[in-house]
Amino acid sequence: MEESRKKRKRYGGGGQGNRPSLDGSDEESMPLPNPMVGFNLPGYSGSSVTRMLSKLDTGPPFFYYENVARAPKGEWAKISRNLFDIQPEFVDSLHLCAAARKRGYIHNLPIENRSPLLPLPPKTIFEAFPHYKKWWPSWDTRTHLNCLQTCVASAKLTDRIQRALVSSSNPPPKSVQKDVMDECKKWNLIWVGKNKVAPLEPHEMELLLGFPRDHTRGVGKTQRYKSLGNSFQVDTVAYHLSVLRRMFPNGVRVLSLFTGIGGGEVALHKLGIHMRVVISVEIGEASKKIFRSWWDQTQTGTLIEIDDVKSLTNDRVASFISQFGGFDLVIGGSPCNNLAGSNRHHRDGLEGKHSALFYDYVRILNFVKSTMAGRRM
Ligand code: SAH
Repeated sequence: MEESRKKRKRYGGGGQGNRPSLDGSDEESMPLPNPMVGFNLPGYSGSSVTRMLSKLDTGPPFFYYENVARAPKGEWAKISRNLFDIQPEFVDSLHLCAAARKRGYIHNLPIENRSPLLPLPPKTIFEAFPHYKKWWPSWDTRTHLNCLQTCVASAKLTDRIQRALVSSSNPPPKSVQKDVMDECKKWNLIWVGKNKVAPLEPHEMELLLGFPRDHTRGVGKTQRYKSLGNSFQVDTVAYHLSVLRRMFPNGVRVLSLFTGIGGGEVALHKLGIHMRVVISVEIGEASKKIFRSWWDQTQTGTLIEIDDVKSLTNDRVASFISQFGGFDLVIGGSPCNNLAGSNRHHRDGLEGKHSALFYDYVRILNFVKSTMAGRRM
């Protein structure tokens, strides 16, 4: 709590560029739209946005940057300032699938003529998991799950809930219902038996996030939860990236920073966009293993893996650019550890140890842009 209350450095006079004034009273604030559907989403026709990017800001190279929507005050303004003042697109994946995921995306992709992945993902808990209906009490009125996190509830907690319900009347008193529902919402618990709640299994999270079943299989369960909790929601990202299909019928060359378990690549693959080259930068052993095994099973393009973004120097980027003739897409969501609300101890914003890796994304993107502009690629 101390950390999040700390006064943050204020930056004055940032160019407004493409960013319409969302709230004239405070240029640091970036109010989240309600409903959080970004510039447009399938099924939400009403408030589609048009935007004009300056010639300098449009691709190629195209770029796509992601992070948690609810960052500490002022952080999205700062992210935007570092990414050509382009306005973030805030989307809660709840509007597309059965689990919430509030994320901000800054990109220079066209936003017209997007198309969703088909078939559309299950939109409610019961559409995703019809077999749990049988155990679902009528007083649990959830239709969607909350954001999938990196860790799950302990057996101690689910046992305690079961004991409380077994010793209550049916339906339980309002106070017990409230207690149980608070925990169910906090931990995304589902009803798997009479009076019995449990966390989602990794393969259920894979389904909700748009990954193929067993995508994360082969590493420990804790690692599976961790990497799934950090990943993109594939249908959401695919909707934004869908415009690339028309532009690159022969495939794309991708610089993938903080690849994780490959949410961006799975999205491109599901869109039918061939990845000619992916330079994947990812430090986590488990995530690397998961991504590599998916790649080997599904892809024919060239994969080059780099561990630490810090070791991807500008010289190395330059040599990849000459080797492959440039990049079509620079994609990545840098670690949110110091931005996300669930981190009470080190929520120190972009300057925090992990979240500062954002500046490596900026460094590398700027280098790619200027090198490609210099070579007129
Ligand atoms: N978009 C990804 C997840 C990104 S989470 C997906 O769809 O799965 C951020 C990722 O950055 C994590 O996987 C983390 O392991 C990785 N990371 C953290 N520090 C890093 C570093 N120094 N270099 C490269 N990757 C790093």
